[in-house]
Amino acid sequence: MSSAIDLHTHSTASDGTLTPGALVELAAARGVEVLALTDHDLTDGLDEAQQAALRCGIRLVPGVEISVSWRGGQTVHVVGLGIDPTHPELRAGLARLRDYRDWRAGEIARRLEKAGIPGALEGARRHARGGIVGRMHFGRFLIESGRARDMRAVFRRFLVRNRPGYVAGDWAALDEAVGWIRAAGGVAVLAHPFRYRLTATRLRELIDAFRSSGGAAIEVVSGHQQPSETAMGAELAERYVLYASRGSDYHGPSESGPEPGQVAPLPPRCRPVTELLNG
Ligand code: AMP
Ligand code: MN
Ligand code: MN
Ligand code: MN
Repeated sequence: MSSAIDLHTHSTASDGTLTPGALVELAAARGVEVLALTDHDLTDGLDEAQQAALRCGIRLVPGVEISVSWRGGQTVHVVGLGIDPTHPELRAGLARLRDYRDWRAGEIARRLEKAGIPGALEGARRHARGGIVGRMHFGRFLIESGRARDMRAVFRRFLVRNRPGYVAGDWAALDEAVGWIRAAGGVAVLAHPFRYRLTATRLRELIDAFRSSGGAAIEVVSGHQQPSETAMGAELAERYVLYASRGSDYHGPSESGPEPGQVAPLPPRCRPVTELLNG
């Protein structure tokens, strides 16, 4: 898999800051030849991205990043690649998650209001511009209103456990999310395995559960990780006989993290997940 492949990115359809078309154009300009758009819990950006990909002469892999609650309290993300976004089971599953997300947005705002921060729902909605509302949109509102310096600080001070705007996730079960992706003809990828800060034992248990549910790949290279983590990811892929994915998790020029495609190559012994994607 060359550096021309990026299988994890976001657009304004969820919490990215570039439209799907602008994202594809930027990725193509950066030399990306195979790009997956993987917005959170929805596929609304895929049509526009596909049109732009045809224009730019690159290949778009239709994707999604599904929010999962594992063992109750732990949120994890499962990326679906090569999905048919019109598949009814996937559509119904994602619609349920968006209903929960809508409720959660109101709840986050109520909690922030209690903590002395009014107007957060309106502020977050303004940043979401009619799309789904996520914590990044609250983050942008909190930064713009001077409550935190940057996104890291926003999460640390307001949006994680034991902080005023925290709401425990109630997302899809792991086997549901993997099931929806497979029903829609896609490949399920465990996203950014080192972002969850799990102990080694818990991470192994998560990967076991993911594999038993029909998960096929793991993100060995992700935009926000250390080289040592990439090496551990490659080991996990080998040990659990999983295909390896690679993605920047790009959210836009205003956000931290690497540009589309600008992440480390897959370690040589990995089996690239692109082998499972037709076309
Ligand atoms: P949500 O799905 O609305 O709960 O938001 C999750 C998103 O917030 C992730 O996809 C990241 O884009 C972002 N995020 C989560 N944790 C952090 C963090 N500690 N710092 C910056 N962004 C974060
Ligand atoms: Mn995000
Ligand atoms: Mn994620
Ligand atoms: Mn992501």
